[in-house]
Amino acid sequence: MGESFPMKSGDDSHSYSKNSLYQKLASDTVKEMIQESVIKYLDTDKVTSSMGSTTIALADFGCSIGPNTFLAVQNLIQPLQTKNLEFQVFFNDHFSNDFNTLLTSLPPERPYHAAAVGGSFYGRLFPRNSLTIAYSSQSLHWLSKPPQGVNNEAGIHGSGAPEPVARAYSAQFEADLGCFLDARAEEIVSGGLMFLVMPATPDGLTQTELSALFDFYGYSLMDLADKGVVEKSRIEEFNLPIHIPRLGEMREVIEKNGCFRIERMELTNPKSKVAGPLDAANVVTHMRSAMEGVFAAHFGASVADQMFDNVVPMTPRIADCFKALHHISNQLFVVLTRK
Ligand code: SAH
Repeated sequence: MGESFPMKSGDDSHSYSKNSLYQKLASDTVKEMIQESVIKYLDTDKVTSSMGSTTIALADFGCSIGPNTFLAVQNLIQPLQTKNLEFQVFFNDHFSNDFNTLLTSLPPERPYHAAAVGGSFYGRLFPRNSLTIAYSSQSLHWLSKPPQGVNNEAGIHGSGAPEPVARAYSAQFEADLGCFLDARAEEIVSGGLMFLVMPATPDGLTQTELSALFDFYGYSLMDLADKGVVEKSRIEEFNLPIHIPRLGEMREVIEKNGCFRIERMELTNPKSKVAGPLDAANVVTHMRSAMEGVFAAHFGASVADQMFDNVVPMTPRIADCFKALHHISNQLFVVLTRK
């Protein structure tokens, strides 16, 4: 089922659980929109009677190890808590995810039953018509694998990828998202809801903070090649399995799948919640906990370490890029209902 590069496990200072603040900001931004949408689009009477049960099953696809997933689940459940319902929450991620950290840090006072479900969300994970609400945040830009047969000199599909590389990435993304939607279409009951939150690029633009940061990862690798730390050919063989879709690209894949009605689809700007541009030094550290695994798997831990260390002195240049991109809304928020 493709490759997996879990977020850094445990809870030390480099771990994902201590370094997912930007993701938290991103989910805080959509909190109200999620709660409104649950009230507006979910007919709980209809769904529970068609399922023959007053249990609402929710799943978070790509939950990582917390704490954001707990906040997300709380947001989804809160508008429904006044009703006479029970909640079953499934936390999904790759098998290699640190589910121990996740499960041992579950909020002690939680209005739901919790279970972990390992496996790739690009395939089926649940029985037919068993889910009422599906949620996925900051996960669907991870491809099941890098596009094949692509020779990308810089190794990174940042903002300046040549046309054939960009096309290959789009094709892989469309195939993967298609699989995700097919699987969820089977699992989600008619009238059920799906929320997708992920990085995206406005139509007509090529750069966001994330792709700019990836460019700097590329510069850092090239630097290491010049210093003889890593072979240029190793860099050419590497393709980061991440694609940041355009808004229109996302809409096309969802419409092509045809099983879901698009209730809401827009770009938000979580950065507008912080005063001034993103703190580049902070982002550089934060992103490391999410990205280290994928570089270490290809280049080995030592090169990956040097690659990330080498990005730190580039922070002032990264900060300039972030300043220029601050006004751009780069987070996609999608609400779908299962037809
Ligand atoms: N939703 C959390 C975590 C995002 S990090 C938050 O908003 O903070 C992205 C997560 O997606 C990682 O834990 C990664 O392992 C997971 N992921 C990526 N591809 C996946 C796949 N194909 N199947 C399941 N999980 C996947």
